[in-house]
Amino acid sequence: MNEFFEQLKDYAGAENVKEKENMSLHTSFRVGGPADYYVTCENVAVLAQCIALCKRVEEPYFVMGNGSNLLVNDNGYHGTVLRLKEDGNSIQFKVVGEGEEAYVLATSSAGNSLSKIGTAAGKLGYAGMEFATGIPGSLGGALAMNAGAYGGEMKDIVTEVVVLTPDGSVKTVSYESLEPSYRNSRLLREGMIAIAATMKLSLSTPEEVGTKLKELMDARRSKQPLDYPSAGSTFKRPEGHFAGKLIQDAGLSGYRVGGAMVSEKHNGFVINYDHATAEDILGVITDVQKKVYEKFQISLEMEVKMLGF
Ligand SMILES: Cc1cc2nc3c(=O)[nH]c(=O)nc-3n(C[C@H](O)[C@H](O)[C@H](O)COP(=O)(O)OP(=O)(O)OC[C@H]3O[C@@H](n4cnc5c(N)ncnc54)[C@H](O)[C@@H]3O)c2cc1C
Repeated sequence: MNEFFEQLKDYAGAENVKEKENMSLHTSFRVGGPADYYVTCENVAVLAQCIALCKRVEEPYFVMGNGSNLLVNDNGYHGTVLRLKEDGNSIQFKVVGEGEEAYVLATSSAGNSLSKIGTAAGKLGYAGMEFATGIPGSLGGALAMNAGAYGGEMKDIVTEVVVLTPDGSVKTVSYESLEPSYRNSRLLREGMIAIAATMKLSLSTPEEVGTKLKELMDARRSKQPLDYPSAGSTFKRPEGHFAGKLIQDAGLSGYRVGGAMVSEKHNGFVINYDHATAEDILGVITDVQKKVYEKFQISLEMEVKMLGF
């Protein structure tokens, strides 16, 4: 009997633990081989128990969100992938103060998607999350990455985060103390896990927020290759430049390796054009990095995270 597997099922419930789960089912690139174990955790207690178990038996583990910024090896991941379950009931709004001074505190589990939280806020006429609502990540992933778009970043709206620290304790800290910077934070660097967060929003109307949401979604649709699997912008923006422009100027628009390609619609996106493997995608990425460096002596750093390599 596999004691580790049995113990995971004991903690998380048998229906929430999968063995040899294909990660292509859980990543927006739609690539990636099997993780030894894939566990959906109903709450922080389950997540903490599973992590403690992994540490005890020295099993590698990885906490993921929606997999929208993740490239998983074709050979999979020899370890346990853990994920916080979506919990719509955890999304709560509280109006604080009155009149001109009034604002809204929105709280949510980190397992919920930004689109779910942003849509709920929009329906109530609470503004501030519009920039984030079209980002296909979970709140946890967005906190780790300090995700941003259209002039907004998570650090503009997030006040507090409940974290699970590497020593297994749960505490509430200010987001500022997690040092959110361009697509980075202490969550990523120090293996802390975001469990929930509070965001400060403002009072508006459903119509106004709805108009803004539609405007930003239309902008995404017109500029991004949303018809193909991808992980969004593959590279970080090098200081003083745009990755997409450098890639275009290096003559790499449409550059292909196997089924992976530099999108012609947005040169900053590597897309799974036609049944790509992770190896194809990585092939495009490394070729682009090499050629852009040769031409401009600028290093393109990956924004996408890699698992199992
Ligand atoms: C079509 C498309 C458009 C995109 N547009 C944007 C955009 O406009 N702006 C932008 O910033 N990004 C964009 N992205 C990238 C991606 O959606 C973001 O990086 C997002 O924040 C990742 O969240 P996730 O839940 O999918 O995280 P994952 O991809 O699952 O994980 C990413 C990293 O976050 C860590 N992580 C996940 N959950 C937690 C947690 N609870 N606690 C601690 N660490 C955690 C993981 O360990 C991993 O290192 C886009 C992606 C796609 C596919």
